[in-house]
Amino acid sequence: MTDTVDRATDYQDEWLASRLAAARPAAPVGPSLTICIDCDDDIPEARRAAVPGCTRCMPCESDHRKRGGRNG
Ligand SMILES: [Zn+2]
Repeated sequence: MTDTVDRATDYQDEWLASRLAAARPAAPVGPSLTICIDCDDDIPEARRAAVPGCTRCMPCESDHRKRGGRNG
């Protein structure tokens, strides 16, 4: 019973940390996020390794650039 609650809390902490990291504009290049800031989808491990500090999944990043955005 409590094991399930603990895991859920761990997941929420991780999610919250990634959201906070994404919302913080100070760091030029932070750690790659595990969850896309636009659609909340998982960012593949390969993409996080290939693009340090990435904050979006590939479709969202592509869409973001089409709209003229660079960072953030
Ligand atoms: Zn996305």
